[in-house]
Amino acid sequence: LVVVEHVEKHFGDLHVLNDINTVVNRGEVVVVIGPSGSGKSTLCRAINRLETIDSGTISIDGIALPSEGAALARLRADVGMVFQSFNLFAHKTVLENVTLAPIRVKKRSRKEADAKAMELLDRVGVANQAKKMPAQLSGGQQQRVAIARSLAMNPKLILLDEPTSALDPEMINEVLDVMIGLAKDGMTMIVVTHEMGFARKAADRVLFMADGKIVEEATPAEFFDNPQSDRAKDFLSKIL
Ligand code: ATP
Ligand code: MG
Repeated sequence: LVVVEHVEKHFGDLHVLNDINTVVNRGEVVVVIGPSGSGKSTLCRAINRLETIDSGTISIDGIALPSEGAALARLRADVGMVFQSFNLFAHKTVLENVTLAPIRVKKRSRKEADAKAMELLDRVGVANQAKKMPAQLSGGQQQRVAIARSLAMNPKLILLDEPTSALDPEMINEVLDVMIGLAKDGMTMIVVTHEMGFARKAADRVLFMADGKIVEEATPAEFFDNPQSDRAKDFLSKIL
């Protein structure tokens, strides 16, 4: 579904993405981990074309990422993105947050969009909050709304960049449980996270990044129990 080939990206002198190559198949869950500044967010943003790349190619469903116009809008509709900060529209209700893009971009009727949104809010466990404003919800609830909002566009792929790292500990599991549910339902996901429990339970593969490179690519069991590189051993000794 996603093919990344020889991707290079610099910020000035900084080589943030250094010959990145990987393939994410339909239905796969790929967890990206690595030290701060290793390029994890930049890779996610490049896949969603929120960031340009210097060279190499990224394609989704066999189509190279478009740079602008209607093709880019279609790509964005196909690739959901959930950030660390929930990024909900503060002046819209929870329900409106979920229906906005389907109505505007997919031209759904309000009735149809509302029905689908309520189904998704129910799936992430916040249907009873639909009429509230985002600020009235806990962080965990807001993040679940953000996930429902990305699902509302029927994406082919969802990118989640540290979706639980801004949350209080007691809210982390409620969001991880939703993500585990999505993984079980066959959603293709690329997840940047340091939640090793999630990686072990839900990931098909772990990508370990350091200094802009993919240093290891392995199953969670292989990676956590038997990391190959010193970089990965060092990283794991700090977080486990
Ligand atoms: P973290 O775990 O802290 O989120 P990360 O692996 O997601 O780190 P990135 O956000 O991809 O790292 O950043 C990689 C490097 O690129 C960092 O050194 C960062 O400072 C730098 N960087 C990111 N965005 C920009 C930008 N727009 N301009 C210049 N440098 C940037
Ligand atoms: Mg990051």
